[in-house]
Amino acid sequence: MNREKPRERVEEHHLSGTGISRIGYPIGIRQTTVASTRYLTPQMLRVTLEGPELVDFHSYHFEDHIKVLFPDEDGTLRLPVPNDRQMLDWPRPSPPTRSYTVRRYDGATLDLDFVVHAGGLAAPWAERLQVGDEVWIAGPPGAKAFPFTYVHYIFAVDPTGLPAAARWLEESPIEVSADLVIEFDHPAETAYPLAHRPAVDVQWVPRWELADRVQKLDVPDGTFLFAAGEADSIRPLRAWVKGRMDAVITGYWKQGQEDVEED
Ligand SMILES: Cc1cc2nc3c(=O)[nH]c(=O)nc-3n(C[C@H](O)[C@H](O)[C@H](O)COP(=O)(O)OP(=O)(O)OC[C@H]3O[C@@H](n4cnc5c(N)ncnc54)[C@H](O)[C@@H]3O)c2cc1C
Repeated sequence: MNREKPRERVEEHHLSGTGISRIGYPIGIRQTTVASTRYLTPQMLRVTLEGPELVDFHSYHFEDHIKVLFPDEDGTLRLPVPNDRQMLDWPRPSPPTRSYTVRRYDGATLDLDFVVHAGGLAAPWAERLQVGDEVWIAGPPGAKAFPFTYVHYIFAVDPTGLPAAARWLEESPIEVSADLVIEFDHPAETAYPLAHRPAVDVQWVPRWELADRVQKLDVPDGTFLFAAGEADSIRPLRAWVKGRMDAVITGYWKQGQEDVEED
């Protein structure tokens, strides 16, 4: 895969491309430290990372994501090694990792927004983080980019997909037309901050009502769907979009199972 000039290629696709374009980035492994942590809502923790290794970090598309690396149970941290194809060679078996969206990157610091939930590896770890703690991140691997040239957009997400939806909204042209349908578990989650766009309608719906609500939307031809959240909750949308609209649909997690990503 071509991993040269990713910024230029993603920006060009955003402005004038059609369809979905896979654009690879040089994939790095970086040591960072925690600059700050703060709760955006009682269920969403923002962790800001900093460090010299973030200077040449790549993130040009709103859904870019990194893997946070964790040590094995005995405390050993096994890191992937960069190779000459601008990718990483991972140890076998793979070390424990979890995926998180790059909510913001400004050339020096980056924000990750963690949904706080019971159990798991990453969520309780994030809540324990202190300023100065070391965090290893791998990626992002590249963008599954789609342009701002569609007539209309639907974002169907749960809180794990909110960082991606919020970044897209912030980086989109002011006149963009979209429906954001957001599934929540706790009413307090609806306080998550979203940029205002006059032609964007935001609906918050209780857990498991997401797909139903999306299928009732009255949308024009030329609509694009981005869906990310609990795998079973968004599954009905996979059949619904067929022959109807272009879409990127990803199960970001699955109830009762750890570390699931469903494309
Ligand atoms: C490309 C991509 C981007 C993602 N971006 C983000 C992001 O920006 N922010 C974010 O919070 N998550 C994001 N996720 C989802 C996150 O990776 C998963 O939720 C992950 O499973 C959390 O790891 P964990 O160690 O906390 O729980 P795991 O060890 O994976 O799971 C333990 C238990 O917790 C449950 N569980 C996992 N996630 C949740 C949840 N969100 N709510 C309730 N129960 C849960 C599982 O079903 C399981 O029963 C993303 C996933 C992908 C694939």
